[in-house]
Amino acid sequence: MEFKKSQKLYEKGLQHLVGAVNSPVRAFASVGGNPLFIKKAKGTTIVDVDGNRYVDYVLSYGPMILGHRHKKVQKAIQKALKNGYTFGASTHNEIKLAKIVCDAFPGMDKVRFVNSGTEAVLSALRLARAYTGKDKIIKFSGCYHGHSDALLVAAGSGLATLSMPGSKGVPEDAVKNTLIATFNDLDSVKAHFKQHDDIAAVIVEPIAGNMGVVLPEDGFLSDLKTYLESQGALLIADEVMTGFRSTFGGAQELFNVVADITCLGKVIGGGFPVGAYGARNEIMEMVAPLGGMYQAGTLSGNPIAMAAGIATLTELKKQNPYEQFDEVAAILEVILLETAKKYNIDLVVNRFGSMINPFFVKNEVSNFEDALKADTKKFAVFFWEMIKNGVFLPPSQFEAWFLSSALSENDLKKTTKAIDAAMLAVSKM
Ligand SMILES: *Cc1c(COP(=O)(O)O)cnc(C)c1O
Repeated sequence: MEFKKSQKLYEKGLQHLVGAVNSPVRAFASVGGNPLFIKKAKGTTIVDVDGNRYVDYVLSYGPMILGHRHKKVQKAIQKALKNGYTFGASTHNEIKLAKIVCDAFPGMDKVRFVNSGTEAVLSALRLARAYTGKDKIIKFSGCYHGHSDALLVAAGSGLATLSMPGSKGVPEDAVKNTLIATFNDLDSVKAHFKQHDDIAAVIVEPIAGNMGVVLPEDGFLSDLKTYLESQGALLIADEVMTGFRSTFGGAQELFNVVADITCLGKVIGGGFPVGAYGARNEIMEMVAPLGGMYQAGTLSGNPIAMAAGIATLTELKKQNPYEQFDEVAAILEVILLETAKKYNIDLVVNRFGSMINPFFVKNEVSNFEDALKADTKKFAVFFWEMIKNGVFLPPSQFEAWFLSSALSENDLKKTTKAIDAAMLAVSKM
């Protein structure tokens, strides 16, 4: 397998792009080597500029849940393009996507579309503060909520991959109202409430996906919600990754908890930049123009993005691939574990719905501290061997692999072979 053209583009890209990438997770920093440049993708196959073909488990970090260029989505986009790209005024499609989203989330009466997950989350924090009149926010270490100042502490995958504790350029003042708790540990939340009486909200990835996949323990989310109610604080569910991934709707439904504010992104744009935050009427009525919390966006609710989102969610609802996701993920789990065992390698696999994550570690992973014990050097060897065997994975031990509903038996066969070769390579380290 050759990467000559990728190599050339990488060198060229370095001149005017930072590290030749527009998002640091794409830089292959923790797996070594240079990033691949992609030419095209269709279904589950992604093709780099050298013509190498891979089964894609990155899926743009989640959005491409139907696989790339699903024909119904492509058709909807082409149709929308004919009418114009952006108007700075409302369109019917915004109402349609809003209905699909609100129908899928019991806690959402109204939604506001924005352009990214980051934007959704930073707006949700502002809203929680506006609604409660309080300033402090609790986040869990290892959860990632986008790159807004207040949330760039103990923030999971991107930073963990680069071994950065937080970000430079974030003023003390911007994080002084951010408190850190431990995922799956309600006492760590309660401890903050004992010390502070001005906590507006707790933000959580209901199934953590940015420290690798980490599941909430039984009762963690519902106990958290009950406790927050008793304290007059809000629960913000950041379902930017999990929304429409583990069920049609979010992880909240599966864990029987309704958040006060929900953040969405990734899947809902069908591959275009869309984020969203929503809540019950009483909370959303704080948002301008109905209320005094200001938040705006020139391209928000972009007509092409709305068309892609509607087509994606409509098709997703029709396919209802969630059982299939679970079955495929279970198969992958077994293959990963058995192959690791065959080569005497410590491995833990966490998965939920269409998200799965092998950790090169001995003991179970239930929070960020556990995840950080994983052997990233082993992952790097594993990653490159998978690439060489035609499987495209996120270039980080701490990123979930994503499944699409287009994944075929053949893809799985190719993946199984690749896993064998990759574990063998790890065993020879
Ligand atoms: C990806 C992600 C974000 C950030 O979304 P962007 O669109 O990259 O800004 C926020 N929260 C979670 C849980 C995510 O997975």
